Formats: sequence, structure tokens, C-alpha cells
Amino acid sequence: MAEIRTIVKEGDPILHQQAQVVRRFNDSLHRLLDDMMETMHQAEGCGLAAPQVGISKRVIVVDDGEHPPMEMVNPVIVRHSGAVEAVEYCLSVPDRGGKVIRAQQITVEYQDRNGNPCQAEYSDFYARIFQHEIDHLDGKLFTDVMIEEVRD
Ligand code: ZN
Repeated sequence: MAEIRTIVKEGDPILHQQAQVVRRFNDSLHRLLDDMMETMHQAEGCGLAAPQVGISKRVIVVDDGEHPPMEMVNPVIVRHSGAVEAVEYCLSVPDRGGKVIRAQQITVEYQDRNGNPCQAEYSDFYARIFQHEIDHLDGKLFTDVMIEEVRD
């Protein structure tokens, strides 16, 4: 059974650290992935990175409700093109939003939970979610890269 983990909030130093590359594709990684998916769904978010649950590892989960839920280990954006502006929110930065410019299209290389190499291409808002989550692995929040804060 997956467990709900506590989501770390802005101000916690772990959100500003470079997360560690995952080298062991073991039970503890699988438990982390399962717990992150459950935690994201319970919080009604569309993406979550491991540092947001206090684990400094290069792991993300994404579920926008339109595509199948995704999990990625050691994701790297190897190609990107275009630029689009949209408002973003973050489970670790409650009650704030900001306009961020992201690539319109990305190619991501990553590993699955068993360490198999994979590649995927995404565009538009779905690509934005991956860019936001991968930024978390480099210690960046949307508030660090936004061009304008949005209040609603
Ligand atoms: Zn976030």
C-alpha cells in the first residue's frame, strides 16, 4: 500500500538543492514512486518531484488526467524548441501563481523504475509540467524563473 508523504513547502532548503542521480533501482525506489503518485493524487496536483517529499533524488511523477500517469527516474531534457508563456502553480508554493516561459516542445531521456532507458516527446501544457518538475531536481521553483507573479 502506498503511503501519503508530507509535501515540503517553500523555504525548506531541500527545494533549493541539486537532487542526486538514482543508481539503485530497488524496492525503496519503487516505494518512493508509489508514494509520490499517491501523494500527488491526494493533493490534486498534476506533477510531483522527490525533493517535494523531502527526498533529494532525481525522480518525478506526472499525471495531468489526460495522459496515462508517468514516472521518470533521472530525467534529462535533451532537446527543446519554441517558447510559450503560461501561469504555473506548485504544491510546494501554496496560494501563489506566476507566468513562466517554457519550451513548447521537449524530448526527455529518462529511466523507468527498473532502470531501462526510455525517451519521450511532449508538447504544449503537458511538456510544461515535465519542465516544471525537472526544474525541481535542479533546486529551482517556478518562483525563481517566473517573469511575473499572478494574483487571483
Ligand atoms: Zn512544483
